[in-house]
This record gives sequence, C-alpha cells and structure tokens, in this order.
Amino acid sequence: MILEDIKQKIEKANSIVLLTHEMPDGDAVGSTIAMYIALKRLGKNVDMIIENCPRTYDFLPFRNEIKEEGSREKYDLTIALDCSDIKRLNGFSNYFETAKDRIVIDHHGSNTMFGDINFVNPVSPACCQILVLVLEYLGVEIDKEIGTCILTGIITDTGGFKYDTVTAETFELVAQLLNKGINVSNVYKKVLQMISRSSFELRKIAMNRLEFLEEGKISFTYITKKDEEDWNAVTGEHEGIVEMARDIEGVEVAVFLRETENGYKASLRSNNYVNVSDICLMLGGGGHPKAAGANLPFPLEQAKEKIVEQIKNYL
Ligand code: 5GP
Ligand code: MN
Repeated sequence: MILEDIKQKIEKANSIVLLTHEMPDGDAVGSTIAMYIALKRLGKNVDMIIENCPRTYDFLPFRNEIKEEGSREKYDLTIALDCSDIKRLNGFSNYFETAKDRIVIDHHGSNTMFGDINFVNPVSPACCQILVLVLEYLGVEIDKEIGTCILTGIITDTGGFKYDTVTAETFELVAQLLNKGINVSNVYKKVLQMISRSSFELRKIAMNRLEFLEEGKISFTYITKKDEEDWNAVTGEHEGIVEMARDIEGVEVAVFLRETENGYKASLRSNNYVNVSDICLMLGGGGHPKAAGANLPFPLEQAKEKIVEQIKNYL
C-alpha cells in the first residue's frame, strides 16, 4: 500500500529534502510548507527548497525557513510535491537523483512517475488535497498552520473553488478548516484577490496587446522582460493574466507568453473541450487538461506561430 510505503520511508530517513516545481505557485508553496511543518512535528530533520517564492505567500507560516539551496549534499529521502516531471525541479534535480529514497506526491495528469514511490491522483484539484490523505495517514493533525498552507494550495489551484476539478471532498475539507478557526475569506483575499501595483500594470499591458485569432476562439497576448523591468515586477507578478484572457466570451483557448532568459514561457488555459495539456506535452511541457504550460525557446513571432498552429488542430 502506497501510504504505508511512504510512512515507512519517512520513519527510516534521518535527513529529508522537500522540492517543488520551478516558478512555484500557491499549490507548490502550500504543499511544500505543509509537509515541512508535518515532518518537523514528527521530529524529522528536514529542509525545504523553493527558489523565488512569490511575495504573495510571505504570510504563510515557516516562510522564513524556506531555503534556496540544500544544507547538505545528499539526503536519505526526497519528496517532490506538485511537480510532474524531474525537469521541472530545475536546478535541484541533483538532490532528487542522489537521495536514497524518492517520493513523488502530485496531481498532474502528465506526471512522468519519476519517483520510486509515486502518489499521484490526476483527478485531485490540488496537490494540497492529496497531501491531506498523507498527513492523516502519518497521524499529523491538520492544525491552523498546516491548514492555512493546504487552503492556499486549494484556493489557487481551483481558481477560488470555481474549476470543474473541485470535488465534494474539497468543500468538506474547507469546512473542517473553517471549524478550526482558519479565516478562509482572508486567505482567499491574500492569494487570489489582492494584486500589487506592478501586477496590475502588467495586466494592463497584456490586455492592451490582446488579440483574437481563429474567429475569436483563441485569445493571445504576451509580456516582455522589458515590461517587467519597467514596472520592477518581481516573481509571480504575471499571474492572473492568462485567466483574464480565458474569461472572454467565445474564447476556447487563451495563450499567454512571457519572455524568459531563453525565449518564451507559454501558459495555456481552455474553457470547454480543448485539452491544453496534450498540446503542451507535444511542445515538451505539460499540465492539466484546462491549464498547462511549456517552454518555447524561440523569438516572439515564431513562438506564437508554433503554439497557434498546434491549437488550430484542436479547435
Ligand atoms: P502555468 O500556466 O500557471 O504556469 O501552469 C499551468 C499548469 O501547467 C500548472 O499545473 C503547471 O505545473 C503546468 N506547467 C506549466 N509549465 C509547464 C512545463 O513547462 N512543463 C510541465 N510538465 N508542466 C507545466
Ligand atoms: Mn498544483
């Protein structure tokens, strides 16, 4: 049984490192910190490594214990959370590869099952929701601190409880968290509603550039490195742009390109029938049926053309 295997590996390990995907979102940060608190409570020697944690999540407990590199070279056990592919561990895959035992806890349909133990449920709306099963099995109480992290992951990955990935268990879990005194409204506001001035300015730029292709079924927009520099944008402040492009009547697929060191990062969202994870998988990325991404190492026009050509086959 997978949960029993996970428990035994944790019991056996003297050093543990938690890793998550590059450009971390609320589910990545929430699930990693929740697991960190749980393992600390179990008396474990544990590090959590998250590179460029967005400012939005500064309110989470134990935020200041996040490391940007390991405190040792090798660990007995590594656990990758909310990460579908070893490539997405980015600069930290060495910690994963060199650990004696490797566990993956995730909810991406495109997960490549890169661990020795893979606890992956693609119909779960957030990694944080899967993690609750693990924590319960380990006998760790979901208190206010762990619960706040779990709630953060659930709220961000469900777009505030509105995606069709939400299950009855999601609401049952959130009801339990409310009963524990967690201010759901407050967490919602912090992670989803309030945005910084620079984030707002990036949205304005992206909205002004937005164009409609294929009779309005595709919405396309982008931001450049210069845009981010002009507004002193920090990590994660482009979040929310692609959702605005998706929520326009008649749009089936929204495409948002963000300039990186190496071309553009594509974020895709769909409304009804297009599986954007399939499209991104073909471009070397992955994700979920209605939210996915890929790296496009090309100049803007070429990146745009590549992705739009792929989408056309699915419309
Ligand atoms: P976003 O567009 O918000 O960056 O990502 C949407 C979803 O697709 C997330 O679940 C994210 O983990 C996944 N995703 C984004 N980029 C990539 C990528 O390059 N490779 C893989 N495998 N998944 C990605
Ligand atoms: Mn997730």
